[in-house]
Amino acid sequence: MLPGHEATSSEKRTSINHYKFIKTIGEGSFAKVKLALHIPTGTEVAVKVLHKNQQSSSSIKTLAREVHSLKALQHPNIVRLFEVIDTKDRLCLVMEHVTGGDMYDFLRIHGPMTEEEARGKFQQLVSALHHCHQRGIVHRDLKPENILLDDDLNIKLTDFGLSTMFLGRKLTSCCGTLSYVAPEILQGLEYDGPAVDVWSLGVVLYVMVTGCLPFPGEDIGTVKRRVLTRRVHLPLFLSDECRNLLRKLLTVEPSERATLKDILNDPWVNVGHEKLRPHRELPCDNMDPSVTEVMVRDLGFEWGKIRPSLRARKYDHLMATYLILKSKQQEEEGPPTVIPSVGPQSFPTGEGQLLSASPLRRSHSEPLLPTWFHKEDQRPEEKQESGLKAKEPASALPSLESRTASPSPTPSRSPGACPRTHSTSNGTGAPEETHCPPGVSYNRNSPDAGQPDGETPASPSGPSQGWRGAAGRFINFISRFCFCLPSKKKHVKLNQVKPL
Ligand code: ADP
Ligand code: MG
Repeated sequence: MLPGHEATSSEKRTSINHYKFIKTIGEGSFAKVKLALHIPTGTEVAVKVLHKNQQSSSSIKTLAREVHSLKALQHPNIVRLFEVIDTKDRLCLVMEHVTGGDMYDFLRIHGPMTEEEARGKFQQLVSALHHCHQRGIVHRDLKPENILLDDDLNIKLTDFGLSTMFLGRKLTSCCGTLSYVAPEILQGLEYDGPAVDVWSLGVVLYVMVTGCLPFPGEDIGTVKRRVLTRRVHLPLFLSDECRNLLRKLLTVEPSERATLKDILNDPWVNVGHEKLRPHRELPCDNMDPSVTEVMVRDLGFEWGKIRPSLRARKYDHLMATYLILKSKQQEEEGPPTVIPSVGPQSFPTGEGQLLSASPLRRSHSEPLLPTWFHKEDQRPEEKQESGLKAKEPASALPSLESRTASPSPTPSRSPGACPRTHSTSNGTGAPEETHCPPGVSYNRNSPDAGQPDGETPASPSGPSQGWRGAAGRFINFISRFCFCLPSKKKHVKLNQVKPL
């Protein structure tokens, strides 16, 4: 069978076009995510597969919405779309495979993060979200399950199924995941797109540093009551800066809530770093000749067909191969390589075909640098001196400028902190217990217990000195065993999304 056609018509296909399915790595409400091999380059990719005949038209529209948004987004902290395969019975999104799992599982395994660990990820998340909002796209389903982590714990935002364009209009669709959704959506009000993402960002930050939900509940009534009575519990072991930021993000009134611009200037976000600047979109109208050369020389593509595919952003097999090789090149920081034995003749020919190629891996263990923001005023030589590394953006086409990145925040794990006893910010000052599930033991004798907010010493990087430091370390150790989030399946979705 020719490339470009489905390999078989049976339900249990093991391949599609140039991709060989390996295993299922994620399952959502209507689509499966499979690990697959891009056979021409021997690269592992993730393929989100929707069976059209088993799904309602609204599910198909949801995936179409995701395609629409992903095509518009090119950011190193947003999962990269390579190809869209639309056949009679299936719609497949071929994306970069993010190898470290999602943040939900990370927190379940390791417990909550320290503030230092959370800060780097939060910065990347803000950078990704800023890019979305600049492009007029609001995500509307920010939560740990939709935040993937690579091998070096860099963030990749995914699942744009509920995203939409917000520019110039108020939104009305009641959608999202109950525990993360903004109060204005819970109240059924018209809302501004960016503000609802900022609220969810606040919930995600809270979850990262505590391992618990700020507004737990399994039904709308409970969550809404907690949110609207502003009963958010801010653990005393968090630094004052972190708690202040959480207050700014989890502000019920959307007009008073922090904006992304406020977040970029926030003291907690900027601790230990130069002041962050938004990710700047780089011009990208040149093809990278080192990539196209490999496509022509090693894979047998026709030179003249590559540019039109990229220009028109077709997200077809040509563009996918270019993007896959380009991202490999960026990871390996060298010319792209393909497995010699896998050439144009080695495209899949049907079900059951043996894999002749194993995926190429990064050839060195240098950490992938996280995406920070442009440090616009730095010259390349200054970047080298300051230990910052210039790196090309993960854009569809090569850019003329290099992007500045700084080293990974804290790749190594250390125990996080989980609240035992919380202070309350509802004005009473009375400490209240967390909403951890039964079975989790709380340390009621924690030195944090019973202290009003104001008594927490300012400490941008969490407890570190004297009794507070010792208590913090003890809490951190215990908290490794604490995970208070409901199971993924128990999340209540508010999916009344209007059609595109
Ligand atoms: P849904 O809309 O059904 O929630 P998602 O896009 O969130 O689908 O994917 C479901 C799960 O599949 C994610 O939580 C994640 O664990 C996994 N997953 C999705 N995309 C990728 C990817 N590109 N790389 C690795 N894992 C992925
Ligand atoms: Mg999801």
